[in-house]
Formats: sequence, structure tokens, C-alpha cells
Amino acid sequence: MQHLKRIFMYLGMSLGILFVILVINTLLSSPKPLNTEKSRIANQRNLNEKLNKSALEHLAAAITYRVIGYDDANNDSINHRALLQFHAWMKATYPLVAQQARWEVINQHSLLITLKGKNQTPAAMFLGHLDVVPVPDSNQWKQAPFGGNIQKDTLYGRGSLDDKNVVIALLEAAEHTLSMGMSFNRTLIFAFGHDEETGGINGAAAIAKHLLQQKIPISFIADEGFGVMNGIVPGLKNPCAIIGLSEKGSLSVKLSVKQVGGHSAWPSPENATSILTKGLGKLELFQFPSQLKNPIRGLFSEAAPYMTFGYRLLFSNLWITAPLVKSVLEQGEKTAATIRTTHVTTILRAGTKENVVPPQAEAIVNLRLFPGDTISGVLAQIKHVLNDPRIGIEIYLNAKEASPISPSNGDGYDQIKAAVHAQFPETVVVPGLVITGTDCKNYTAITQRMYRFVPFEFNSTNLSGIHGINEFITRRQFNQAVIFYVDLFQRL
Ligand SMILES: [Zn+2]
Repeated sequence: MQHLKRIFMYLGMSLGILFVILVINTLLSSPKPLNTEKSRIANQRNLNEKLNKSALEHLAAAITYRVIGYDDANNDSINHRALLQFHAWMKATYPLVAQQARWEVINQHSLLITLKGKNQTPAAMFLGHLDVVPVPDSNQWKQAPFGGNIQKDTLYGRGSLDDKNVVIALLEAAEHTLSMGMSFNRTLIFAFGHDEETGGINGAAAIAKHLLQQKIPISFIADEGFGVMNGIVPGLKNPCAIIGLSEKGSLSVKLSVKQVGGHSAWPSPENATSILTKGLGKLELFQFPSQLKNPIRGLFSEAAPYMTFGYRLLFSNLWITAPLVKSVLEQGEKTAATIRTTHVTTILRAGTKENVVPPQAEAIVNLRLFPGDTISGVLAQIKHVLNDPRIGIEIYLNAKEASPISPSNGDGYDQIKAAVHAQFPETVVVPGLVITGTDCKNYTAITQRMYRFVPFEFNSTNLSGIHGINEFITRRQFNQAVIFYVDLFQRL
């Protein structure tokens, strides 16, 4: 009895000490002030007034060029004439950039614009893409998706958030930098691919090849991915600027079974479809392990100091709370996708006639790879789960490993972070992981520093328009982004 009492006493004391440690840890992660950065633009109000007159109108004009990427894209299906007209319009609209930069057309359709800087520091490269996704439901839009109409300072249009807004904001920022008599310290390169929505093979990949051949030194790349968002990190009241340090890999696997077919009136107990569906059933029940590793771990530890106390307690002490945090994140499909490799069956094929047992059945399983999980490792895991030699496993189409994780400090990251603090008050800057794909995946041979962030303050209505109905941007959102880039260019 005495013994048991002592055990409980020690247990209670240990728990008490643990609690004190957790609270101390939480209190120590006090927030640093967010608004210490000053803008590098001498007269920001003047610039905003200038932008009010024409910036969103320029984006509206850009929307009217119908450069649409279809899945069966090859060079012939691209609207060649629209692309060339779009290129010509850019040169005419941004005369100072047209005069002072080198404009190169890569692979007939993509654009590479180089603005020479004063010093020899390796260049900063900004990506954007000229193509947009199709609009299958244009009758449901408030405005014609390619009309370029502005109403009450709001522009509805396909590409207004993905990604003509980035292309035009960069050009506006460069033009205004030059018109205000400012110059660039280092060389800036704008790389505008024409087929991002269909993989970037003819655009971004060709630009990357060109840059490697020319041996052009590039320090970092900035691309689409995240923006400034509200209410996306639990427990965080401040707006949050997420800088994507990595993007998940992509792999499709073909599972196939071949068996003797026959008449459906006397089926054998096992056949191609039954073997395949049993295998798929095992896969359905399986999940790749959740991992609270970087960049997601970095996101939570950077955001923790600004969270409400309960969340701060949870996220400042991941060394002990990680299992709990993981189980919460596993509940939502988007949050679950940020902490593990995902898999889903996207195509099923078997049979051609209702009374014939098919001799062959196939399934395509699409996987998105968490950084650190490799294609070969994932394939081995699938084989292990299926545990059936009758199911053939092969890679289907192009597979891509998850991209390397860029450092969350140093050239590129630091200046973007400072520019966010200068232009978006009270915003917390954190690293993140992009769960879809960007053009960055085509540039991994160019630099290890890739930052997937664009300076647009997105809200949830905005986000639902991307690849959806009523994609829109407001004048305020657009001007803010241009001002951000003018300021950022002065920091590079
Ligand atoms: Zn895009």
C-alpha cells in the first residue's frame, strides 16, 4: 500500500513538472513585433494613385487573350495567334521594360525577360504562366470569363488569380520602378511559361534547359503557391503569409491483372476484376504514415508564438504533443494531405461486354508524395500492401519525386519575408508545403532556393474561383501586389 502511494506521488510530481515545463516553453515562445519593416518606396501613396488609374485595366486587357491549356495539349492545340498577340500587347503596354530588358521567346511561345541589374549578384527569378484552365461553365459566371470587364473595382475573369495577375503585377512593378527613376541592384528575370496548366514541359522545362545552357547564375526563384491568407492556421488570428518551401511529388501507378476470361454464366471464384478489386480494397484501408516534419513542422513552430494560449501550448511543445496534433490534422482531407503521402484510385478499366468475364482489369492509383518519401519506397510499400503477385504494378506516365526543401532563411526567403512585413501589417510569415504542382518542379536543376509565394491577400471566396466559377480580383488586392513587388525589387 505504502509502495503504491509512493508511485502515485512520483507520478503526480512528474506530471506537475511536465506541465510547468510546457507552460514555461509556451511563455518563452513570445511573439516578435511584426511591423518593424519600412517600405523602400519613397512615395507609396503617389504610386498607389498611379496604379489606380490603369493597373487593373491592364490586367483586364490581359484576360482577353484566350491562352487555354487543355489536357491533350500539344503545340498545335495552343492558340498560337493569341499568344503572339499577348506578347506584343505586353511590349506595347510596358514600354520602359520593352526598351531596357532583353525579351526572348523560348520554344515559340514562352517568354524570358531579363532586366539587368547594377551588380553581379546571381539573378532573382520570378515565374508566372500565360495559360489558363478552360471554362466549361461560362453561363454560370457573373461576367464573361474572357471579357475583361471591371465593375465596382472588381475584375472577373479566367486568369485573374491564376496566373495572369502575377505576370501583369511583375510587369507593372518593373515598369513603375523604371518610371520612378529607380534601378535594380541585381538582375531580375521573369520567366513566363505558356503550358503550366498541362505540366510545363514545353514552357518551363524548355526555359530551364535554356538557362542551364547559357549558364546563367540564379540565386532563387519565386513562383505561385500560397499568398496572404486569413483563418488558415488554427488558433492564429493574424493574417498568415505562407512561403512554400517544397511541393509534393506526383506518381501514378498502374495495377493490372490478367486472367482467363469466359462466359459470365459460369464464373470461376476468382477472376481479373475480383483480384483487382480485392487489392484496391486493401489499399483503401491503408494510409501512409503521417509525419510532422519540415516544412509543416516549421509552419507550426513559426506560427505558435502568435497563437491563442491553448494552441500555443499545443504547437510550442511539438516534442511531446506531435501525436495529438497529427491525429487532429488527419481529420481534414486538406490538412491530412499536408502531413503524409496520399493515394486515390482515379481510373478503373475492365470489361467490354456485360456477359463476358473480362480477361484483364486495370486501375490507376494517383499518389502525391510527401517530401522524403521516394517513388521507389512508395512502390515497394504498395507491393507489400497488395501482397498478391497476380497484380502487376508499374509506373504510369511521368512520375516526379517531391521537390527538395528550400531553406527557410537566407537569400530570397529573407527579402520576401521583409517585404511582407512592410506591405501587409500584422502578417505572420511561415514556411509551408504546396500539395499541388507548380512550374517550380521544372527548375530543380537551376537552384535549391524556390519560394512559392505571391503577394495577394486571398479570401475564401477568391480561392473558390481558382480553376472554378467567378474567378475575381479587386483593385485593392492587385495594387497591393504591385506595390509589394516594387518594394521587394529594391530589397534584392
Ligand atoms: Zn497557376
